[in-house]
Amino acid sequence: MNFRPTNTLFSKDYYKILGIPRNASQADIKKKYFQGAKKLHPDVNKAADAQEKFAEFNEAYETLSDENKRRVYDQTGMTGDEQSQAGAGGGFPEGFGGFSGGAGNFWEQFTGGAQGRQGGGMPGGGGFEDIFGDFEDFFSMGGPGKGGRQAQGRVKGKDISLNITIDFMEAVEGASKTVKYQKVDDCSRCNGTGAQPGTGETNCSTCGGSGYQTVRQGSMIFQSTCPSCGGIGKVIRNPCLSCQGQGSVQTTATETIKIPKGVDTGVNLRMSGKGNKAPQGPSGDLMIKVTVKDHHYFKRDKYDINTDKYITISEAILGGETTVRTLTGDMKLKINPGTQHDDRKRLVKCGISRLPPNHNQKGDHYVNFKIEIPRNLTPEQREIIERYAATEKQ
Ligand SMILES: [Zn+2]
Ligand SMILES: [Zn+2]
Repeated sequence: MNFRPTNTLFSKDYYKILGIPRNASQADIKKKYFQGAKKLHPDVNKAADAQEKFAEFNEAYETLSDENKRRVYDQTGMTGDEQSQAGAGGGFPEGFGGFSGGAGNFWEQFTGGAQGRQGGGMPGGGGFEDIFGDFEDFFSMGGPGKGGRQAQGRVKGKDISLNITIDFMEAVEGASKTVKYQKVDDCSRCNGTGAQPGTGETNCSTCGGSGYQTVRQGSMIFQSTCPSCGGIGKVIRNPCLSCQGQGSVQTTATETIKIPKGVDTGVNLRMSGKGNKAPQGPSGDLMIKVTVKDHHYFKRDKYDINTDKYITISEAILGGETTVRTLTGDMKLKINPGTQHDDRKRLVKCGISRLPPNHNQKGDHYVNFKIEIPRNLTPEQREIIERYAATEKQ
């Protein structure tokens, strides 16, 4: 079995190159770097391999000074360049480097050091401009640390679901209902930043401000949200006292819901932007799940209505006129002679309004005739029916 060594298997020990232990802090790394850079700069160092050594030294610093790259290097041995190349094809987030966090501080330290060195009689003074030139490359390399927050900002807050139960006639006629519910909103004291007013944020030291952690396994690049900052890339120095640095608070919201005519059990109404608010981002929606109570008389079948109408034997046989209750009030209804049990009459467009956009259309109302057979007869009625029965045998 052959193991082919690859160039990612710690071909270069950046810790050795910088002369620092593996657990060195960022401050140690920076300090070592500008001490070493002064010695190794080709203008100062006249050794044959000075150029190469200096490049290697810069490379080591570039990788280890970025906590994100450093972690990937520790785990996989990928150099900063290799990581950037992998990033080009592998879908790294913008601002992979996240270098900007320490840059200002570093710049001050470095210029301070350079002046000190010059004061001490620096040979060949002009050389430092080149070093500064290299630093400028570093600054532009990662770009300003566009971390996870921007990406997160586009994510909507979570939707909220509410159940609401309305009466049958409210569903028929439409209704206005006021609901109270709990939702997440930006803290008004800190405007959702989570920082005390007037104080800022600083880049997360775990991910260097990128909000991501990157791990390489073989040829695959895996990204996960930084566990320290939750993908935001920033940490808050002075948390807001109102929200304990959360940026968001639970509030009670009140909304008036306009329930359209025709709504039925199982219909979901969506109120856009009335849900939980994402931290400094857009709000989710309020979803209202409607349940319509049954009615003792009107039986609903989608947009149609069914009712029963009890008529007497004589009404069924002889026909006549009766009154039925409809959704819009009482209505006179003709009974045809010879009406059978379960015969039905259709009252066109006397049903329920359809939901928008077809709200100008209505279902129908079906009247189902039920013939009541008398349980007890008076002697007179019995005599009449018996005479009638005799005619049936003829
Ligand atoms: Zn707050
Ligand atoms: Zn982080």
